[in-house]
Order: sequence, then structure tokens, then C-alpha cells
Amino acid sequence: MSRIVVKVGSNVLTRRDGMPDVTNMSALVDQIASLRESGHEVVLVSSGAVACGRGAVTPRKELDAVASRQLYSSVGQIRLINLYNQLFGAYGIVVGQVLTQKENFASRTSYLNQRACMLTMLDNGVIPIVNENDTASLTELMFTDNDELSGLIATMTDADTLIILSNVDGIFTGSPSDPDSHLIERVEPGRDVSEYVVAAKSGFGRGGMGTKCGIASKVAAEGVAVLIARGNRPGILVDLIEHPETVPHTLFEPSAAPLSNIKRWIAHSGSFAKGIVRVNARAADVLVSDRAVSLLPVGITAVEGEWEEGDIISIIGPDGRHIGIGRAAMASAEAQVSTGKRGQRPLVHYDYLYIE
Ligand code: GLU
Repeated sequence: MSRIVVKVGSNVLTRRDGMPDVTNMSALVDQIASLRESGHEVVLVSSGAVACGRGAVTPRKELDAVASRQLYSSVGQIRLINLYNQLFGAYGIVVGQVLTQKENFASRTSYLNQRACMLTMLDNGVIPIVNENDTASLTELMFTDNDELSGLIATMTDADTLIILSNVDGIFTGSPSDPDSHLIERVEPGRDVSEYVVAAKSGFGRGGMGTKCGIASKVAAEGVAVLIARGNRPGILVDLIEHPETVPHTLFEPSAAPLSNIKRWIAHSGSFAKGIVRVNARAADVLVSDRAVSLLPVGITAVEGEWEEGDIISIIGPDGRHIGIGRAAMASAEAQVSTGKRGQRPLVHYDYLYIE
């Protein structure tokens, strides 16, 4: 049995006129039901609330971006979830709605709380259908898009596989419509394919291939296989799991040395950093080497910002390059006093350090 997180984009789930694409949705539900039948556990990360809301309500006066996102998502989300409930209900499958936001991943306590919720649902045979709570999220604190959210959910639930369904077959060496470009079938751990990604994003959703690529590499480095494929290709989900060689897709191979659970959380916490420590060249070299080392005050040249013990901090090298993220073992005031000194206890212990 394996655990699979399936992320479906707005373009797969909604039609141009803002109505749910019932044909695509029921095809996906049929396949998820069949995967469950074969013993797989599935978590669904579904976009489409805003796109669906557009077809359902016409604002009485012009709205700014935040108000329209709130209005459309409030209306669209229940349409989507109702439809999922009906479609899965026909198979006797119980679904539950998880509306979440970035703050729920910010502290270790809220992260573990969110994780426990997902695992309880799975343990009880309920399919979690996850989306960002677009009515409540503050613009500056939103997920880049649901690709980012699905990456967090995949690592948080210890999934084996993350499948990102979009409206293209995967990552191409150029524009997918250009006959000279071809599909990249495999991306080995550590290989950077970002140079191939066309900046433009398509249709309704917030994300594009650029974010998909970044998220896919990061999640694969954390030990989860990531597959990007076209969501409206008949039978795509089942084929990807059972006969992947028969369908076009891009696979980001999982790293053979996956991160511990706490490092996975830290890896995704960069945007919550409360402060910065700058380190000298020697410390930077040691940190980026393969050795399991902690960040010691002797290598620190500056402490910026104020934080408490347990907060997330960013580590920057002498050239200004971002080296990694860690959980501080002491508050900024104590770090300040120890800066540059030998024989001090580590500011970030190796177990709580994520080097990028
Ligand atoms: N949460 C948004 C929605 O349901 C989608 C965000 C995205 O496009 O990734 O409409």
C-alpha cells in the first residue's frame, strides 16, 4: 500500500465559463476510487474554488483582488466540495474538507496539529480534500499556489508519491506547443531543470510550471517521488501508478537519503524566519559540505532580528547567499553575546538544520 497526494489545478477542474468541469471531476473521482480499491491511500489537494465561484456570482460593483478572491472562493469552494461529496458518495467513500492556510504550518505545534488531523482522517478511511482557506488568508502570507501547499501536504503526511495534474504532459525542454521541444521524462535528484521552464502561466490558477518545478525538486529531495502530468488524459492517475511507462509525464526521482520529519518541516519554513545569522566563509563551507555539523557561534559574524528559542532563522553566507534554515536553540539576545566565540553550545543543532 502506498500513500499518494494528488494535486489538481483549476484548469483541470473548471470550464472556461467558470462552471465545474463535471466530466473531468468524475473521471478523477473514478480513478481515485479505483486506486483506493487497490489499497492506496489518497489525499486530494484541489484548487478551483475561485475559478468555480466566478461562474456562480457576479459582483454588484467592482472589487479589488482580495475581495474578489474572498467572494469567489467562498461561493466556489462549497460547489466543488458538494460535487466531490456526491461523486465519491456514489462509491461509498467518505470525504472531509480541510481548509488551511500558511500560518498552520508556521510553528511546530500548529504543523503537528494539522498533521495529526490529516493522519486521523486517513486512519479512518476518509479522503481529505485540501485547499487553501482563500477567504481568510492574508495576501502577503498566502501559499504561492496550491503546488506549494501540495508539497507541504505530501511531506507532512509522509506520502510516497505526489502527483501534480495540470493541463500539460509535464516539463518540456521549451514551450510545450513548440514541435522542437520534448518532454523531460526523468529528473534525477539534484538536477536543475529550471532553465527549460517557460515563465508564462496558463489560465485560471495562480501557479505555473516554474513553481511546479521548484516545488517538485524540493519535495523529491525530501524523499517523495513527484510526477507531473496532464489531468484530462483518460485514465491518467491509475496509469501513473500502475503502468507509468505507458503515459507521458515528468518524474522527479526521490532522493535516496530522505530528510527526517522535523527537517521536512524546517525545509518548508523559510518564509517564517524571525531572524538572520550571517556566517563566515569557513562556517559556510562546513555547513554546505556533506558532514553532519551544527551551526556554532564561533562561525557567526552577525545576528539580525529578534527571536526566541525554538524560532526559525535563516543562515546567510559571507557572499550574501542563502545557505539554509534552522531552528534556533537559543534566543537572539544569547546568540548575540556568543557571536564569534569558541566553546559555546550550538545555535542550531544538526537535527534542526536544513541546508539548501
Ligand atoms: N486556492 C485557489 C482556489 O481554490 C487556487 C490556488 C492555485 O491556483 O494554485 O481557487
